[in-house]
Amino acid sequence: MSMDTGWLADNWAQIRRRVDAACREAGRDPADVGILPVSKTFGPELIRAGVALGMRRFGENKVQELRDKSAPLADCGIDWVMIGHLQTNKAKDVARLASEVQSLDRLELAEALDRRLQHEGRAIDVLVQVKTSSEPSKYGLPPEQLPGFLNVLRGYDTLHVRGLMTLAIHSSEPAEVRGCFRLLRELRDRAMVQDHDLTKLSMGMSGDFPLAIAEGATEVRIGTAIFGSRPYPDSYYWPESPDAA
Ligand SMILES: *Cc1c(COP(=O)(O)O)cnc(C)c1O
Repeated sequence: MSMDTGWLADNWAQIRRRVDAACREAGRDPADVGILPVSKTFGPELIRAGVALGMRRFGENKVQELRDKSAPLADCGIDWVMIGHLQTNKAKDVARLASEVQSLDRLELAEALDRRLQHEGRAIDVLVQVKTSSEPSKYGLPPEQLPGFLNVLRGYDTLHVRGLMTLAIHSSEPAEVRGCFRLLRELRDRAMVQDHDLTKLSMGMSGDFPLAIAEGATEVRIGTAIFGSRPYPDSYYWPESPDAA
């Protein structure tokens, strides 16, 4: 291996230990909480090193990056997971390259993905992204629209709805952050009465995952704590965030 990736192995082992500890703290089985490595801004060489450490799924935020990375890593058998805001005109590449989309937040996008997936002869897993805070910067479906949206999604054979995803409010107040995660779990619990397959809760990132695990996360999306800090500010990914100026 050309890179010195001992630090990556250390980070990977350490985040698993921290997730396990948060599970024990919450009285949960660590086997019930997966870690999705978020590789946005990092290149194929580092992702390949992650694969060598046992990572199989990677979260990406932008379709262009997914395209650029998937080609040189085609031999790795990676499952690419889209976690960023998606424009409908990018549905074609997503339908071709992604195994899962966690940022499904509107009907127009479901229609575009379905059309492209039919063309590809594929079906993918999807999570519905729900807006759980009143922050203007966060994408996602308003909670009150979720039941109707899930009903409509049942009509799409190419989209297997597995659960819900959210980004919590960016706040130094743990109770506020936790409230976002709790709301997502409550919405999932209500939806599960109708649809038993809706088990997944993708919530929690490097800075707030213990709170998400306490509220029932089944997958935490971890970037910084695995790969280090990113060369771009988050406003590059969340263009509407308040610090985007
Ligand atoms: C970047 C990103 C993450 C990971 O964030 P970290 O704080 O680096 O762990 C999780 N979810 C989404 C949607 C992201 O864009």
